[in-house]
Amino acid sequence: MPSPVGYPFGSAFTDHMVMANWREGSGWGAPKLLPHAAIPMSPAMVGLHYGQVIFEGLKAFRRTDGRLAVFRPEDHARRFRASARRMMMPEIPDEVFRDALDELVRQDRDFVPAESSASLYLRPLMFASEPDLAVRPAREYQFLLIAFVTDGLFGSEPRPLKVWVNEDHPRAAVGGTGNVKCAGNYAGALRAQSLAQENGCDQVVWLDPAELRWVEELGATNLFFVRKSGQSHELVTPPLSGSLLPGVTRDSLTVLARDMGLNVLEDRVSVGEWQDDCLSGRITEVFASGTAAGVRAVGQVRSAGASWQIGDGSVGPVTAALSEALQGIQYGRRPDSHRWLHLV
Ligand code: PMP
Repeated sequence: MPSPVGYPFGSAFTDHMVMANWREGSGWGAPKLLPHAAIPMSPAMVGLHYGQVIFEGLKAFRRTDGRLAVFRPEDHARRFRASARRMMMPEIPDEVFRDALDELVRQDRDFVPAESSASLYLRPLMFASEPDLAVRPAREYQFLLIAFVTDGLFGSEPRPLKVWVNEDHPRAAVGGTGNVKCAGNYAGALRAQSLAQENGCDQVVWLDPAELRWVEELGATNLFFVRKSGQSHELVTPPLSGSLLPGVTRDSLTVLARDMGLNVLEDRVSVGEWQDDCLSGRITEVFASGTAAGVRAVGQVRSAGASWQIGDGSVGPVTAALSEALQGIQYGRRPDSHRWLHLV
């Protein structure tokens, strides 16, 4: 059992995994609960060579009543199916996806500490397992579900992020795979992430692939701007252009913001407008959103030619209120009025 404090992202694995196999002609076999262990694979496995690999990321939270709640599993199942279609892979039926989650969460529930900000990160994965190097969609696939305990992508400390505007390497291509969760998107992003770090920043800002002008997302999160609008504020997020990922957290926050009475809109924001609107005081807050990251304030922006601060560089009131609204539902402190939780 891991210690109850300090879980770096992605390494405190639980003891079990669920595995299911698909074969052309016979479809999906029954999922099996197994010990979390190395898996045998052929060196000619298609997924390794041609990248037919997709994944998801969702979380289960320990609630104050002791039960575990998985956040919006149907929405993650839907996005997993969309990723499969884009990569010419078989779609996994929702019942198989949900039963796999239920089985693993039930089995490994005791790994999630009570009374802490930790949660159980669930990682569904599918890859082409057929050993045949013809370049065409494979005829055999493996689905795996593994899990780890985490405090969050940026640790438990809510320090505002410094972000680097990457004007050289777009994350996605026009008509490409940016709106699905295929493994190659993340390998292609590593170079820009390392440039962000070389420039003293935590995360990379992705611009649109056509013009490298419009802000799309941030690292492995979506992005929101809080703007003054008359006497109140509005919440702005980049539209789903086809090259950014439609985040489940993004969708949840737009719903919660509307519940709070904020005007929410999808609008393109250019890098130039971002800087000008911060200097003029029109943009008062910016935050990142994602399953792993939660809601994280952005405090400073840097690019090759400029550097600016957002508000006073600290966590703003809209960011704090939305973070609390989301976590309140996830940990069971607030009513689940949108029926987002699946109790296990
Ligand atoms: N953008 C990218 C590129 C991501 O990898 C993620 C994480 N899945 C997100 C945004 C946020 O999506 P979600 O809120 O569904 O985790």
